Amino acid sequence: MITTSSNTRSALSDHTVASLKTHIAHWGMNPHHAARLLKEYYRTGGRVDFNELKIGNALETKLSAEIELRQATMLERKVSSDGTVKFLLGLKRGGAVEAVLMDSATPGRAAGCVSSQIGCAMGCDFCASTKRGLERNLEAGEIVEQFLQLRAEALSSGRQLRTLVFMGMGEPMQNYDNVVTAVERIAGEDLGEFGWRQICISTVGIVPGIDRLADEDRNVVLALSLHAPDDETRSRIVPMNKRYPVSEIMAATRRYADKTGRIPNIEYCLLNGINDSDEQARMLGELMRGFRAHVNLIPYNWIGTGLSGTEYSQPPPERLTAFMTILRDAGVHAHFRKTRGEDVNAACGQLREITVAATV
Ligand code: SF4
Repeated sequence: MITTSSNTRSALSDHTVASLKTHIAHWGMNPHHAARLLKEYYRTGGRVDFNELKIGNALETKLSAEIELRQATMLERKVSSDGTVKFLLGLKRGGAVEAVLMDSATPGRAAGCVSSQIGCAMGCDFCASTKRGLERNLEAGEIVEQFLQLRAEALSSGRQLRTLVFMGMGEPMQNYDNVVTAVERIAGEDLGEFGWRQICISTVGIVPGIDRLADEDRNVVLALSLHAPDDETRSRIVPMNKRYPVSEIMAATRRYADKTGRIPNIEYCLLNGINDSDEQARMLGELMRGFRAHVNLIPYNWIGTGLSGTEYSQPPPERLTAFMTILRDAGVHAHFRKTRGEDVNAACGQLREITVAATV
């Protein structure tokens, strides 16, 4: 039987078909309804209507009494001038997280970004999510709730949620089990049917996590947050580099690609005067030599001062162009990631920890 750590009732998003069946059987009712109920729950983005499902009054009453339909409540919904929607979701177990829905390049499709932790312990100096440290890991069900919210928002605007990236608050590899459990529910055929290949898990370069993901052959896309091609610069802006330096994280990412056959993404946030020189572009080109991967260049999104007290800025347009040109001349498959939702602090690196009392 599923109970939650804070003794609150479990929510439907905490359950698998098997665990819900166990509950229903324990109540002396037909466990057969579990699969249909949960499938509909995921299909509708958590907007399931028990009445329409015709599961019977007795089960409906029992479910309503014993299991929460949702464990997250919308505390705030902000819409950017470019249509990006940022949610602040209050969680029953305490705290709040942000998740973001963006338009995809293809009309009628949308992409979602979810958080894996409340706050982050990694200390990347250009990222707002880490400014107050790590509050806690999210449970798998709390990650699923973000997905459900994003799917429902997309559906309500006539779009289909087609990709999901773990690039919100937190380092997914530091909450590996819950992240993978959530992905299993979201992607798998018995629940979310989203598909593994539509999901991207990013990491700042936690080598054991990358290797574990490769060994388990989860078939998701891996995104490595590189941000600098040399250890001196990277250690300055990504403290975890002191533990896992550039050579090791690149080797792990190559192992992932070799083992899974998936093409990884290399994320590179361009900071004016820090990691945007011609020399660094050439070094990045060198690192990418013979490696089939996509480099996503992300012009920095402003967050005020970083943990070190440094205030970063975006390189001027001509520097961005020069950096890209050097990479492409070196044969690297590189693109600029379009910045979305900057005016509502929904862009990369801008999601932050907001402490909210458990009011839901
Ligand atoms: S960039 Fe990612 S890993 Fe680094 S502090 Fe921000 S959320 Fe954490």
